[in-house]
Amino acid sequence: MAKKSTTNKKKLRRRARAGALGRSKASGLDPVRFSLMAKPFGPVCNLRCRYCFYLEKDILFSQDADTRMSDEVLEAYIRKTIAATPAQEVAFHWQGGEPTMMGLAFYEKAIRLQQQYAGKKRIRNVIQTNGTVLDDSWGRFLAAHKFLVGLSLDGPADVHDHHRIDAGGRPTFDRVMRGMRVLRDHGVEFNVLACVTPESCGRALEIYRFFRDNGVGFIQFMPIVERLPDEAATQLGLELAVGIRAGEAAGAVRMTPWSVEPLAYGEFLTEIFDEWVRNDVSSIAVMNFEWALAAWLDRPARVCQWMPNCGRSPIIEHNGDVYSCDHYVYPDYRLGNILTDDLQEMIQSDAQCSFGEAKSKALPDYCRECSVLRVCWGECPKRRFLDTPDGQPGLNYLCEGYKAFFTHRGPFFKAIAQLIRAGRPATDIMSAEVIVMPHAHVSSP
Ligand code: SF4
Ligand code: SF4
Repeated sequence: MAKKSTTNKKKLRRRARAGALGRSKASGLDPVRFSLMAKPFGPVCNLRCRYCFYLEKDILFSQDADTRMSDEVLEAYIRKTIAATPAQEVAFHWQGGEPTMMGLAFYEKAIRLQQQYAGKKRIRNVIQTNGTVLDDSWGRFLAAHKFLVGLSLDGPADVHDHHRIDAGGRPTFDRVMRGMRVLRDHGVEFNVLACVTPESCGRALEIYRFFRDNGVGFIQFMPIVERLPDEAATQLGLELAVGIRAGEAAGAVRMTPWSVEPLAYGEFLTEIFDEWVRNDVSSIAVMNFEWALAAWLDRPARVCQWMPNCGRSPIIEHNGDVYSCDHYVYPDYRLGNILTDDLQEMIQSDAQCSFGEAKSKALPDYCRECSVLRVCWGECPKRRFLDTPDGQPGLNYLCEGYKAFFTHRGPFFKAIAQLIRAGRPATDIMSAEVIVMPHAHVSSP
C-alpha cells in the first residue's frame, strides 16, 4: 500500500513538472472517489426560477447550436465514469437546467449503456428535477430503474410560486405537486430540495409542516446566496457575480434581493430543528441535520460544503467539458473534455487539487479559531466573499447564521451522537431533557 502511494506521488510530481492537465493517455494514477454530475441539456429549462444561477450560463455555450448531450458524449461519460470509479457502486447524477427535457428516450439509452459497461459494478441513478413534466410514463421508467429523484419544491404555493415560475411567468406549484403524486403512485423514491429565500424566512415552521403533512420523508434546505455582477461577471456577460477563488478578496459586495439574510437563515434552521428534534427524528430526515450530526459523530462529512477540502464533485456539461464544480462553470475552471481526457487525471490534476485544497488552506484565522469549525469548515468557497471582523478576506456570507445555529443547537447534536454511540436509538432524544449550558450534557429520559 505504502509503495503504491509513493508511486502515485511520483507520478503526480512528474505530471506537475510537465505542467500537464489531462494530456497524457491512461493515467495509471491510483483512482480516487468522485461524483461526476451531468448536465445533459446544459443550461436549458422550461422554468425561469428567479434565483436560478445556471440558465445565464447559456452565454458561455452560445457557439453550440444544440445543447443536447450527443450520443458520443453520453457513451464516453458512462463508459469512463464506470471505468474510473474505484467503488463497486457507480452513481450517475443527472441535473440541469432541467434534465427531464432530454426526454425518456435519452435515459433509456443511458440505461442500455450502463448495462453494457457495468461489468460487476452496481449502477445507481439520481435525477434532480423541477417535476413539472413527470407523467405516468416517467413514473414507470423511474420506478423500473430505481432512480432516486430530487424534487425541487420550496414549500406551500405562495412561497414556492414567489420564485419558481415558468417561461411564461406562470406559477408552477400545482404542476410540481402533480409530479410528486406521480412519483408516489409509482413507488419512486424521492426527496425534496427546498430553496430558502427571504420569503421563506419567518415561515420556517409552516414550510416544514407543509412537507410533513404531505408525507415528505427526506428534505434538504438550500440557502440562496447570490451577488449582483462583479467586474469578472460583466466581462463574461453574466448577471451574477463569478465565484471567487478561496482566500481572494471579493471587493464591494452587492447582494441580489432573493438572497437569504445570514441570521435569518440561522433562525430558519433553528426553528425547524426545534420542531424536528421534539417530534420527527424517527420519521423525517432533514439532510442539513444529518450532515451536521456527522461532525459530532467524528465521521467524515457527507457533503462537500462541510468537508475540510472539496474538489471531488466536478460536473460534465452537455458537450463533454468537465468543470471543477457546479458553482464554478467558468472558463478558468474547465478541466478538460470527456472525449479526449482521462477522468482520474482531470480529477487529480494540479488545477483541481489546488481548487479543492484551497477550501482549508485559505481559511481565515477567524474560522480557524471558531468553536464550530469542526462542522462548518468555512462552508462553500463560493460564498466566502466577506471580510472577517479584523479585515481578512474569505469569510463565508452565512457565517453569522451558521455560528448561531451550530453553537445553540450543538448540545442537541452532541446528545444525539452520545445516544448513537451508546447503542441507543437516536429517537430517544425526543424524550430526553437536553440542558443547554456552557458545558451542555444530556440527562436520561
Ligand atoms: S466549491 Fe462549494 S459546491 Fe463546489 S465542491 Fe467546493 S464546497 Fe462543494
Ligand atoms: S461559523 Fe463562521 S467563523 Fe465558524 S467556521 Fe463557519 S464561517 Fe468560519
